Formats: sequence, structure tokens, C-alpha cells
Amino acid sequence: MKVARSLLELRQMRPELNQDLGFVPTMGALHKGHQSLMAMAREECRAVLVSIFVNPTQFGPGEDLEAYPRPLEADLEKCRQMGVDLVWVPQVEDLYPKGAQTAVVVEPLGQKWEGESRPHHFRGVATVVTKLLLATRPQRAYFGEKDLQQLQLIRRLVQDLLFEVEVCGVPIARAENGLALSSRNSYLSPEQREQAGQIFQGLQAALAAYKEGATADTIEATFRGHLEQTLSEAEVERLDLITSDFGRNFRGEELVENGFLSVAVRYAGVRLIDQVELCS
Ligand code: AMP
Repeated sequence: MKVARSLLELRQMRPELNQDLGFVPTMGALHKGHQSLMAMAREECRAVLVSIFVNPTQFGPGEDLEAYPRPLEADLEKCRQMGVDLVWVPQVEDLYPKGAQTAVVVEPLGQKWEGESRPHHFRGVATVVTKLLLATRPQRAYFGEKDLQQLQLIRRLVQDLLFEVEVCGVPIARAENGLALSSRNSYLSPEQREQAGQIFQGLQAALAAYKEGATADTIEATFRGHLEQTLSEAEVERLDLITSDFGRNFRGEELVENGFLSVAVRYAGVRLIDQVELCS
């Protein structure tokens, strides 16, 4: 496995990879969720490239940019185990040259839901993903369904900017207790991680209510009620029942048809996101 530690090195090494390249962009602190993206890329493509870059522009003021874990050597070892061909670890100046002024916005999609909770987040995501795709020129790029709105936004971006890349979504990888794997789970103690499985249980309870034909209000109340009973210290920062085309929210007494229940829960100071598909 090769490691490129700058844009220049990537440009030197990229031609060695063939023209059937799968790309997995990450922020590092790799876990089995990232590895499931790599496994799918390994299965579907002749070469696999992973990037590790903690993108400053997608963090808001007061968020965890500095604290974000950066265990580079362990990450490289995990990539090696997954049979990755090339890991690109760019420097901030590689992706944001001095004096950079250009950004990519995907709006209104990027302003809604997660974008409402984190106002500059998707502008940062869209900008960095555009740069990463231009620099790596993959045939396929892999993104997790854990960040479902991000996946939707990247599909939109790729279509709008005429990128010749196939965007591939990968199902959420979970811990045994259902907690969606995330680099931010490392901020939690083992006991807290165990407790945080209740977020998944709450989503399952909401899914069961949906299957019984519940209204939007009842589905929301089911999730909130479950969390109040089982994880009372947690705060639901965002809860959205979104139509499957990401067009709008289901609300009130409306019966929910196909869509997603998407939540952001703050627990023990950590913002955890998760979702479940509601479909019959
Ligand atoms: P991150 O390093 O958190 O920016 O994530 C890099 C990629 O891995 C994104 O496409 C995420 O959606 C994906 N990812 C992160 N956690 C998971 C998970 N638990 N299951 C599936 N994909 C994930």
C-alpha cells in the first residue's frame, strides 16, 4: 500500500492506479463503518484509494475540529488490512491554497435538516468533496448512509457539476447494541456507548409505530418517549420525518408514506446522528 502525503505526491502516484478506481473519502479515526465502504470498493473496483482529511470548513465555531481524533498510524494499518492500494493524507494547504476564495454550495438542500442545525456544514462538505473528486478522478466514490443527507447532497452535486463518477451508498454499520458506528463514539465511555444504543432502539420503536400506520406526530412522540424513558440525559437536537426524495417533512396528523426518520441526539456532550428508513 502506498501513502501520498501531499497533493504533489498524489499527482505522482495517481497514474499508477488503473482506470477502474474506487474512492473512499474519510476524516480518519477509522472504524468498521469506514471499512465497510472500503470492502465494497475493493469488491467492485480494481483499485481502491482512501483519503484521510479532517476538513476544517465543515466544522462550525465551537465544534470539535481540534479535538477530532487523528490516529494516523492505526488508520493506515486498517487501510492495509482492507487491501487499499493508495491512501492520500493531504495537508490543509493542499486542499485550501493560501488565499482560497472558491466554495461550492448545494442549496436549498444544504440548508435544510442537518444544514439547519449546522449552518456552514454542507458548504464545507460540498467544497471538499468537489476538490477531492477533481484531484483523485475516481470512477466510483463510496459514501455511508449514516450521513444520509450528505449522500443525497453529493448525488446532487455530482449531477449538477457533471462529474463522471458513480456515487455508491453503503448501509449503516452498527455496534452490537445497534449504535451507529462513528469516530465521535470514541468521546463516550464504554458504559455511555452501551447506553447510547437506546437511540437505535428508539428508532426501532418508531419504525414499529410506522408499520402500524401511525401519524407523523405519533412516530415522533414514540421516539421521544422511548428516549425520555431510557436515556433521560439525552437531548433530541433534531428530529425530522423526511420524504424519500428529500422534498419535505411529514408533519402533524399526516400519515407517513415512504421516507426516513432522521435524528441528531446530544448525549454526554456528543452529537450522535442516526436514521431509519420507513418503508412498507
Ligand atoms: P467520516 O470519516 O465520518 O467523514 O465518514 C467517512 C465516510 O464514512 C462517510 O461517507 C460516512 O457516511 C461513512 N460512515 C461513517 N460511519 C459510518 C457507518 N457507521 N456506517 C456506514 N458508513 C459510515
